Formats: sequence, structure tokens, C-alpha cells
Amino acid sequence: MSKLSKDEIGKLAPATRIVANGRNPDESFGFVSTPPYRGSTVLYPDADACLSHRNRYTYGRRGNPTMEALTSLWSELEGAAGTVVCPSGASACAVALLSVLGAGDHLLVTDSVYRPTRDFCDRVLARYGVTTTYFDPQIGAGISALFQPNTKAVFTESPGSLTFEMQDIPAIAAAAKAHGAVTLMDNTWATPLCFRPLDHGVDISINAATKYPSGHSDLLAGLVAANADTFPRVLKTHGDFGIYLGPDDVFLLLRGLRTMPLRLKEQAASALAIAEWLEKRPDVVSVAHPALPSHPGHALFKRDFSGASSLFGLTVKQMTRAQTVAFLDNAKLFGMGYSWGGFESLIIPVDATEFRTAVPFAPGGSAFRLQIGLEDTTDLITSLEAAFAAAAAA
Ligand SMILES: *Cc1c(COP(=O)(O)O)cnc(C)c1O
Repeated sequence: MSKLSKDEIGKLAPATRIVANGRNPDESFGFVSTPPYRGSTVLYPDADACLSHRNRYTYGRRGNPTMEALTSLWSELEGAAGTVVCPSGASACAVALLSVLGAGDHLLVTDSVYRPTRDFCDRVLARYGVTTTYFDPQIGAGISALFQPNTKAVFTESPGSLTFEMQDIPAIAAAAKAHGAVTLMDNTWATPLCFRPLDHGVDISINAATKYPSGHSDLLAGLVAANADTFPRVLKTHGDFGIYLGPDDVFLLLRGLRTMPLRLKEQAASALAIAEWLEKRPDVVSVAHPALPSHPGHALFKRDFSGASSLFGLTVKQMTRAQTVAFLDNAKLFGMGYSWGGFESLIIPVDATEFRTAVPFAPGGSAFRLQIGLEDTTDLITSLEAAFAAAAAA
């Protein structure tokens, strides 16, 4: 760190910046990583500093060196004015929305949004006088027609983490700007390594750091990065709610982040190989992976994204319940559970019929979601082959 200036580091590739930023050995007795700083009270050095509230850190909840190592790294990676850390991705979405909305406001949200975000809009925001309209994820510039005089924000997520529709983020953000509204994006799927929302007109970028940044399925965290116009509001709201993530989880998150570029590259390559293999099978109806030319959002993906991650959708010819059970139980390398972005592969059945409102969910068969981990690609394909065989025999 001491050998390169901040400006010099800023010109290097993301993988190098993730290694070089977010640590300060000069202030850690030479140790490479900033340790977990546990503490509530921070002592002033003398009465003069106390009377004038002059201290680098003032109180545990409002920042410590571990937290600052993470936020400085992440802000630089996002090209943001600042970042706040939340105890989960869901709370990051909630804080981001509450930062820019108040009673009487109207909000536009993509119909493909992460379900708990939808619940937050329908339950909490509604209770505080904010109305929400869900829009077709593929609406693009057509979103202009949905703005009301009181529309203050647009919430996007591309691709949707359950149904994988790509959104025209630059067009949506431009329309929002023209109407004086703020654009928020849940960028958990791509991470700033594959798409930097703020470079495309988005004001607030949210990441469920529980997923790829942590990478090991052993902690929950959320990051909200914002541009100079919106960050002061985000920081205030985060403070007003007293939100805090303990230093041990922040430390683990930073530790995970160091290897995110490597993990993502490996997992993305494996996921694409498996998606291509799946697409050729006669029992498969479709594979919802934006990096496949067959995906309806592939052109947007190629235009805007510099890479993919390892989560995608699979629709197979309609299975009976017994076949679904045989399929899931025999995909033996694929755990069944929520979340994703960790080192291990997962599979879950998908059904969005019940909650979609703008565009009905109609996959045309039995739908699943696959997260590809760091296992050997051939082993994973062999495991899926066994699952298809078991389903056919059931
Ligand atoms: C998981 C997830 C979240 C929420 O993150 P948690 O840490 O589980 O609260 C938000 N958005 C997306 C797209 C997610 O996949």
C-alpha cells in the first residue's frame, strides 16, 4: 500500500484494486489486513478535542477502521461517493428505499424484483404512505409513461435473480432523471466487477454482500453505494435507524472480497458451460442465462455487462411431483436451499406465479434456479445427468 498512491491504484484492474485497497498496514503495525475493531466507546485524546468533537472515530456505530477498510474499498470499486454497510442485503434494500422516499411519494419497481424487497414495498412502505407500481422488466424507455407527478424513485434489478429478465438500465435511469426521480439498482447478480450501475446513470447501487462478496455462505451483509447527490441522504437514514454490522462479519466480508474476482471468473465459466450443456438436452425447454445468445436480454447483456455470474434459470418439460422429487434428490452435488454466490452449488424449484403482477410468470414447464459453485464442471454435469435420468425413470 505504501508503495503505490491511491491515484496509481485507481488506474489498475479491478482484481488488483480489490487486493490493494481496503487495508492500511502502516496503521496496523505492518500486519497485512485491518483486524476486527470491537468497540462502542471511542475516547477523545483530551478535553479540547472532546469539546470540539474532534476525533477520527466518534462512536462504534458510526464507523471504525475495519468498517472503513470495507467501505473505502467498495466505494472505489463502485465509483461511488460513499458506501454504508448493513446487516443483510434485505436491510440494504430497505435503507436505500427509505433514504429517498417519504409519505405521499410514488415508487416504480421492476416486477422481477427480489421477493423480500417486494414485500417491503407492499407492507412497510405502503403503511407509511408510499405507493408502488410494478413495471414490466423489459419496458425500457417506455417506463416514461408510468411516471406520476409524485414519482420519486425507480427500483431496478437486472437480471432478476429468480427469472433473469435483463433491463435497459441506461434508458430507465435516463427516464427517471428526466422526471426528477432517483434510480436504485439491486446489483447483487453482477457485482461491480461485471456491471457498475453508477456509470450507467443509476444513483444508488445495492449489493447483497451475503452472496459473491462474502462468497462462503457463512455471513449476511448488505452494501449501499451512492453517488454524491444521494449519498448524504443514505448516510443520514442509515444513521437514524442505528444500523450496524459487527466487526467480525465485516472482517470476514473483506476477507471474502479479496478472492471475489477469481471465484467469479471460475464460477461464471463453469455456469456458462453447464448452461450450454443444458440447452442442448431434449428434456430442457429453456435456459435463462443472459450470456446465452438465446436469452431475450442477450443484446442488453452484451452492450452493458462485462461478464456474467453463476446464477441462472432452467425450465424443463413439465415434471410430475414424483419426477421433481427424483430430479432434486439425485442432483447430489447440488444442495437445496436459498441464497447463492457461495463456493457450493445449489438448486431450488422456482414459482413466481403467486406474486407477479405486471407480467404473468409462465415458464412453459417446471422451473428451477441453479447456482454454480467451485466444484469441478464435469462432476456437476455428471450429477445433473443422474438427476435427469432419475426424473425420467420416476
Ligand atoms: C439475497 C438477496 C438479497 C437479500 O440479501 P440477504 O443478505 O439475504 O438479506 C437482496 N437482493 C437479491 C437480488 C438477493 O439475491
